[in-house]
Amino acid sequence: MFVGHYALGFYLKKKNMGVPLWLIFLGVQFVDLLWAIFIMLGIERASFNPDASVFLRAVYEYYPFTHSLITSATIALLASYLVYKLFNKKWAIVTGIAIVSHWFLDLIVHAPDVPLFFDSYKLGLGLWNFPVLTLLLEVGLLTAGLWYFLKSLEDKRTKKWVIGLYLFLTIFYIGSFFAPAVPPTTMQIGIFGLLVYAGVPALAYFAEKKKSNTTEAVSEIEAT
Ligand SMILES: [Zn+2]
Repeated sequence: MFVGHYALGFYLKKKNMGVPLWLIFLGVQFVDLLWAIFIMLGIERASFNPDASVFLRAVYEYYPFTHSLITSATIALLASYLVYKLFNKKWAIVTGIAIVSHWFLDLIVHAPDVPLFFDSYKLGLGLWNFPVLTLLLEVGLLTAGLWYFLKSLEDKRTKKWVIGLYLFLTIFYIGSFFAPAVPPTTMQIGIFGLLVYAGVPALAYFAEKKKSNTTEAVSEIEAT
């Protein structure tokens, strides 16, 4: 799953408005961020089949560390602990939920290649075999998530940023389905993954950065 992870991110944000969106967006795609690094280092393996109808035409050959339930739950616990030490308990809990949610959402779209325990007991409902359904589901989820998040958001600047981010993700995702079938190299996909999975939280950071500045400005005005 790709943009559907961010849909859950919007939901988590709305339910926990005190937790920054950048942290939630980093969390929901954190194991994919690690995956991008691991395939570049050769720790995990992916190949690219031009006939594969899935997103980016990737075939997930071996990813026991980032994408098995047991390891992604462990990653979630470790990251939660770190966030707890650096920030607070609430942020830590939301980070843990965001990270572990990735596995369950991937399960819907992946072929039976998502392992429970390292490289064993692989599951997957295979929605990726139906590209139109996948597209409708993911873009539908993202749109619903955006709507739910924006519904009662008052800060206009954050709204614009978040809508921009939504448009970027949607156009890019739909475009990937119609892109010519030229499979990328492992290095290309790794660099590309890093850019997207780190870039989206960075944009989310700026979306909210403005908000806090505005809030500060307002409280300063109110104080005088
Ligand atoms: Zn994944």
